[in-house]
Amino acid sequence: MNRSLVEPPSSETLLSNIITLTEQRDQLSLEVSLFQAFQHIFQPDALISLEWPHNGDSHQVVHESPGACPLPAAVADAARVQSMDIRHLADQDGNGYLLMPIEAMGDDARRVLVLGKKAWSPTELRMVQGMLRVYQNFVRLLNDSEKDTLTGLMNRRRLEKHMHEALSSRQEGRRGNDHQHRDYLAVLDIDHFKTVNDTFGHLIGDEVLLAFANILRRSLRDGDRCYRYGGEEFVILLRDMRRSQVMAILERLRGHVANHVFPQAMHITVSIGFSRIEGQRFPSAVLEEADRALYFAKTHGRDQVREFQALLKAGEIEVPDASGSVELF
Ligand code: GH3
Ligand code: MG
Ligand code: MG
Repeated sequence: MNRSLVEPPSSETLLSNIITLTEQRDQLSLEVSLFQAFQHIFQPDALISLEWPHNGDSHQVVHESPGACPLPAAVADAARVQSMDIRHLADQDGNGYLLMPIEAMGDDARRVLVLGKKAWSPTELRMVQGMLRVYQNFVRLLNDSEKDTLTGLMNRRRLEKHMHEALSSRQEGRRGNDHQHRDYLAVLDIDHFKTVNDTFGHLIGDEVLLAFANILRRSLRDGDRCYRYGGEEFVILLRDMRRSQVMAILERLRGHVANHVFPQAMHITVSIGFSRIEGQRFPSAVLEEADRALYFAKTHGRDQVREFQALLKAGEIEVPDASGSVELF
């Protein structure tokens, strides 16, 4: 049943929904909370969230309120058009649809939330706009808390989330049974970085880290994700790839770093260890494997890329003991 146009939602209702919204600490629960707030405050006839995956043409429904009427084709078509603003459409029966772009935290997908109702009063429209601003401000705040301030790359906190996602999608078999295309995790550590700091000072050291992060960005595809893990250590998550592709990407990256002329420091090199992500493993175990391959690279001349599984197969390193499967984060 629709709320009457002359009776706007009470301040208490609004306040309690804003409180719930700002209690959330991750994008998904924030979005669910926004969804519930819209449901609760406006009691719309349709409440649907649509997503267009990166470079994807067709959308999928992410959330849908129970009993929601199907979206008219014209509304779904309009939702496809990329826009930063809230748009208001009406169908021939006089139903009003609000199309809202929903910011997706650091993800490649584009989302649109559609709210449908017989009629929208100007007050309600302003309220929807206000709720969306609260949501978006909060998404940005969360987003910033998962970014490294020096390089602008994602930080360790975000990596943990993405690794959990990568592991669970493998476990649930959502990625199909493609044995050629797998997910990989690489750990990178700048060689002799302490010497850079000792020779040129911390400020130049910071500049080198920033330039290094830019090389990472430039060397990777849109879908590859890179993180500053801490200090002069970085992580890359490479999803749905052949092993040969991973090797080529990381080798190319190593070469870009070795050939780059950095301000003052001039030349630096990087050592890289990587490991294949398996469905049954904890994030900490995958990181530890990549770290062991990195350690091997460090102790065998630096400036090279090493793979955990290859080293294991060649008997260069030993099978890890069971303690590697302990959940650390
Ligand atoms: P290795 O080849 O074995 O990796 O040698 P390394 O000197 O790079 O290794 P180590 O881990 O001993 O040194 C890392 C240095 O990175 C120590 C620390 O002072 C520096 N560092 C960590 N974080 C920052 C940062 O944010 N800015 C700057 N300028 N230096 C940092
Ligand atoms: Mg280090
Ligand atoms: Mg180092």
